[in-house]
Formats: sequence, structure tokens, C-alpha cells
Amino acid sequence: MGVLTDGFSHVCPNDPEAYARLMIEQKRILATSIPGPKSQAMQQRKLATVSAGVGTGLPVYIEAAQDGILRDIDGNQLIDFGSGIAVTSVGNGNQRVIDAVQRQIADFTHTCFMVTPYEEYLDVCERLAALTPGEHEKRSALFNSGAEAVENAIKIARVATKRQAIVAFDHGYHGRTNLTMALTAKNMPYKDGFGPFASEIYRVPMAYPYRWPTGAEHCLEEAFDGFVAQVQAQVGEDNVAAVIIEPIQGEGGFIVPPDGFLTAAAQWCRDAGILFIADEIQSGLCRTGDWFAVDHEGVVPDLVTTAKGLAGGMPLAGVTGRAELMDAVHTGGLGGTYGGNPVACAAAIAALDSMQEDELCAKARAIEDTILPRLKEIADKTGVIGDIRGRGAMLAIELVSDQVAKTPNAALTAAVNKACHARGLVTLTCGTYGNVFRFLPPLTIAEDLLHEGLDILDEAFTEALA
Ligand SMILES: *Cc1c(COP(=O)(O)O)cnc(C)c1O
Repeated sequence: MGVLTDGFSHVCPNDPEAYARLMIEQKRILATSIPGPKSQAMQQRKLATVSAGVGTGLPVYIEAAQDGILRDIDGNQLIDFGSGIAVTSVGNGNQRVIDAVQRQIADFTHTCFMVTPYEEYLDVCERLAALTPGEHEKRSALFNSGAEAVENAIKIARVATKRQAIVAFDHGYHGRTNLTMALTAKNMPYKDGFGPFASEIYRVPMAYPYRWPTGAEHCLEEAFDGFVAQVQAQVGEDNVAAVIIEPIQGEGGFIVPPDGFLTAAAQWCRDAGILFIADEIQSGLCRTGDWFAVDHEGVVPDLVTTAKGLAGGMPLAGVTGRAELMDAVHTGGLGGTYGGNPVACAAAIAALDSMQEDELCAKARAIEDTILPRLKEIADKTGVIGDIRGRGAMLAIELVSDQVAKTPNAALTAAVNKACHARGLVTLTCGTYGNVFRFLPPLTIAEDLLHEGLDILDEAFTEALA
């Protein structure tokens, strides 16, 4: 470890005023309209220089962030209900992460673990082994992004089982690379025109209680039976290397399968010699109030993928799994130039410390206790919310224009989203039908900011429905 001990004192040596300037008051400020003039000018530059394929949901350009507040270049301070898509779970500008990154950068930034290794990579793998479900012997491999972790989990599953087929679920999202696009369910915008896709990927219906055709009460049994029957009839269980599932689906709409579905699916896979891969990239690492969303049911997957929340905003991803599977791969078969970058690893160790020592699983549960009753109030008042779901600080509402027909209301979702943005609340939508609002605040967000954000959401509904 390096000589520096305090991140801010390194940025601002002996300058308490500068140090104080870096601390952002946890307060929403609307200095201009949103986006403000400087952000609008910046967005013109973006259009002229960045591929149109890369969209921006709320084009305010950020200059600093801390805990639950993002500050833009026009001096607006926005409340963060998105955490950069479930990434900054330990809070924007987490002090432990900043310190660890600065110390590591001062030591060295890269050697390539495959050339000359370093301890930080081992620390992350040991921590992942200790935290992921199951007491069995584990190994991990580290990568740069969630999609890369998923790709590698599939590579490992195929080598370890000597089988090829992979089963994924309706509404699933696993990334944007070629193999992970094939696993991802939604065409627009993720797949449209980007084919041909990787082969030997099969999709089965997801246990989606709200939209289960015969009613939520039949979802568990019928979804499980349908899954098994479809795999047996259309793929043949002996051909299947792995089933991959998000224990709570992310982009697809925060769909929570009924309790018992993951347990039954994992058990059936085990009996059929099929690996059960939990893609915990969005749901893992305290987000749902447990270390991993599968912990809710006590499910022990064969392989677990992690990314988003892992390194407090630095790019890092992992595959963690049974030692005999992970070690089935020939030496050199896994890796990548940057995978497990030392700065990202140092950030991950600090982020995991923060999750443990600041008790962020409990914070996620407290966030649920604050948000859920407010969402119920808005639902009762407006009558346009068909379903409220999720766990911990991974919560969502599904907007419909007809409570009986459950017609998705994407237009209203977009209008409410826009009204939230205009008031300085960063919100995200999702869902196969574009009609789901998802709430993913940093787990360190102050209670009053959470309430203020929910007040804004309430106002936004009123405005959009007026
Ligand atoms: C975001 C996400 C991915 C892809 O991660 P990237 O880092 O964007 O490649 C994969 N799986 C799930 C469940 C995700 O939420």
C-alpha cells in the first residue's frame, strides 16, 4: 500500500477550505432549468462527437457527486434515485473508495494480472468467495463489465459440463455483447439490427406474477412446470450446460419471481446436471437487503456473476463459482488485458468494507420501509399503478392505463419521468414494455432526500395526469 492515507488531503494538501468545497451539501438545488444552458451546450458537443447509438437519459453534465446528490455544471444539485444504474450503492463519492483508489493509483495502475499479478486481485476473489452463497470451495475470475462476466460464466459452464445449450428467461437482460445480446430478451434497443446472434441459446417464460395469464396465485407452479416442460421438449436436458437467471430481473422490469421458484429451478437443474447461474449483477451486493438476492430463498447457485455495485463506480466484474467448475478451464482460457485492474480491485475492497461496516444491507431494507408506503399512497391516489414490487432498495412500479387489461402505459411513464427530471430528481425507467419506474438510490442516501424525491415523484404524477 502507498503512503497516502487520506484522499481529500491528497487532493487539497493542507487546505481545509478546498477540502470543505469538495463536500457537497445533501440538498437539492435548482439553479437553472434542467438541463441548464451549460449542459445544453455540452449536449450539442455530444451530438457532434459521440455516436448517436449512445443515448443519454437525462443530459445534465455532472461535475461532482456525493452520497445522494449529483451536481451538474450549471450548479444544479439533483437527487439520485438511480445510482448510475445500481452502481454507486455505497454512495456517490464514497470516502473509503476515494481513499483506496488514490492510494492504489499512487502505487501502480496496471501490470496485467495475467503477466505479473498483485495481491488486490486475490483480496477481491477471497471476499467474493466469503460473501457469495454456499460454504463450498470457490474460485473467481475478474473482468471489466457485467456482460464480460456473463460471457465468461457461459464459457466456464460449457467447458465444465461439455454441453452447449444455455437457457435464459423472457424479460432477461444480460448485456450487449454478441453472446449476451442473444441472452437478452428485449429487441429494442438492445438487439435490433445487430444480429446474427450467438447460437444454442433458448428462452423460456419467466415467472412474472403480475402478468401471469391465469393469475399470480398460479404463477409459481405453472411457471416452474412450463420451464421444465419446455427445456425437456425443445432442448433436451442432457444438452443444457446452464440455466441463467436474474433472481430479480433488472432491465426487464424488476420482476420478482414468486418465493420458491428459484429454489425449485435450482434443484431441478442440480438433478439434471445443469448448472444454475445467478446473474446478480444488478440485484447483488446489498441492493435487495441481502448480500445476494438468492439469499432471500437460501438458493446456492453454481456460478454467480457480479459487477455494477462491486467497486463503487470503478469498472469491475466477477464470476464466482464451485472450484471444480472454475478450475475445469484450461490455463489461459479466461482473462483479458484489464480484467481485475488493481485500481478497480482496490475500489472493490473499499466498497465491500463499506457494505459490511456501514451495514448497507440493513440500509437497503430501511429504504424499502420508507419508499413502499409512499408508492402505495401514490398508487391509491392515481389509480394508474398496476403493480408495486421489488425488495430492499431495488423497487419498481408498473404503470398501466387499464387495471383489468393491464395495458402498459409507456407514455405516462415517460411523462412522469420527464417531470421528475425537470424537478431535479434522477429517475430511471425500465421494462419490456417501457412502463416501469425503478428506484435504485444509493444505499447511503439521507432519509430526508428520499422523502423529498418521493414528494417530487408524487408531484410529477399529478402534473403528468393533469
Ligand atoms: C447491467 C447488467 C448486465 C451487463 O452489465 P454491463 O456492465 O453493462 O456489461 C448484465 N446482467 C445484468 C443483470 C445487468 O443488470
